[in-house]
Amino acid sequence: MSRVYNFSAGPAVLPEEVLQEAAVEMLDYRGCGMSVMEMSHRSHAFDTIIKEAEADLRELMGIPKQYKVLFLQGGASQQFAMIPMNLMKNKVADYIVTGQWAKKAWQEAQKYGTANCIASSADRTFSYIPDCSDLPISEQADYVYICENNTIYGTKFKTLPNTKGKPLVADVSSCFLSEPVDVTKYGLLYGGAQKNIGPAGVVIAIIREDLITDDVLDGTPTMLKYKTHADADSLYNTPPCYGIYICGKVFKWLKKQGGLSAMKAYNEEKASILYDFLDNSDMFSGTVEKNSRSLMNVPFVTGNKELDAKFIKEAEESGFVNLKGHRSVGGMRASIYNAMPIEGVKALVSFMKKFEKEN
Ligand SMILES: *Cc1c(COP(=O)(O)O)cnc(C)c1O
Repeated sequence: MSRVYNFSAGPAVLPEEVLQEAAVEMLDYRGCGMSVMEMSHRSHAFDTIIKEAEADLRELMGIPKQYKVLFLQGGASQQFAMIPMNLMKNKVADYIVTGQWAKKAWQEAQKYGTANCIASSADRTFSYIPDCSDLPISEQADYVYICENNTIYGTKFKTLPNTKGKPLVADVSSCFLSEPVDVTKYGLLYGGAQKNIGPAGVVIAIIREDLITDDVLDGTPTMLKYKTHADADSLYNTPPCYGIYICGKVFKWLKKQGGLSAMKAYNEEKASILYDFLDNSDMFSGTVEKNSRSLMNVPFVTGNKELDAKFIKEAEESGFVNLKGHRSVGGMRASIYNAMPIEGVKALVSFMKKFEKEN
């Protein structure tokens, strides 16, 4: 067996311990005589898996009682429609557009009502987070929407926008569980699991209960109503059982690492190794303004396309894979999620130093 250092933006690296445990339990889950993939979602064994997963997530994030935790499907992209369908009572929402995912969400919302772009960082290729302390929030806005960590451009909100009393809705796909959060600051936060938590196929949404109602836009499918899933404790229909099981293992792994404060310290340490190198290198440079830098996704360039390509190729040959930047941006991107060990970041920086010397 040989494992690489996987810098993929998603689906992404998972803790080795979790994969090993899953391997041990693959054929016979704790005496059930079958794998978790083969068991009924109504079984006692699975009920325990999903309940424990939720309890561990609640403990990790300190999720208050008045918030529901939903395990959904359809990817983060399905939320782009589900959010306006469920929350746009006045058919007005304000979007802060800081990258491609926020832009897609904003465009989707336009199908259902008036979706205003109240701030954007498109003017400088999404390389920063705009000042959101005093934005022109619409009086009628049902919510204010952000993508908290921009997976593609590598920016992160360091302070949440001032929504002037409107519920904040946040896509946290690529920063989920990377640091402590104050859930009470959000009306709804959600993310696809495949970035920082588990396998693709699971979306976790944490929603304040008063936002879960039957008062949704006309024609909203049953499956796209939060209330459907909230009323059934995420078991309205067959959920992504195996994915939820792996997420549950990752939650336990995170608790063992010391929880989200410990993860934050670890993630800061990892990111600073890479950013410090980028700040001092003559060949490589980061593309994001310093005070907007993500701890999770680190885009960088050499300034020369051929050299970028050579770097990506040689890195891959040395066991550092998936460093190619998003197809819309080019250059490189190292995603250094929770499960990326510090050794991986140190090894990458050593490799970059060596490459710089040789080229
Ligand atoms: C990957 C990603 C998405 C899209 O996720 P899917 O599960 O593929 O729909 C949306 N938002 C952010 C921030 C992402 O990183």
